[in-house]
Amino acid sequence: MTEYIKQNCPLCGTTAEYYWLKMGNSKYYHCSNCAYFIVSKRAEHLLIEAPQHVRDEFAAKPQLAPEGELFVIIVSSPPQAGDAPRAELSGSFLPKSQIGL
Ligand SMILES: [Zn+2]
Repeated sequence: MTEYIKQNCPLCGTTAEYYWLKMGNSKYYHCSNCAYFIVSKRAEHLLIEAPQHVRDEFAAKPQLAPEGELFVIIVSSPPQAGDAPRAELSGSFLPKSQIGL
């Protein structure tokens, strides 16, 4: 049985719930504002520290997911250049079958 855990949404701060995905270190969230989305543990950490406008941008996306797809937020580290590498949040739509749902 899937165990849902209550936690405030990392995007909008509303009461939400999630469960851990079997694959990877990711949470499958259901928020009454933002709908369904997946966020990796690392991405969630960055989101919580991100400015509100960044969270707002991500919060608008899950509802736009095409049929059979889900919005997935991960951290992508850009290739190292002259500057110190900075972890970047990135979101994309992935087919549920690819996520294992
Ligand atoms: Zn939300």
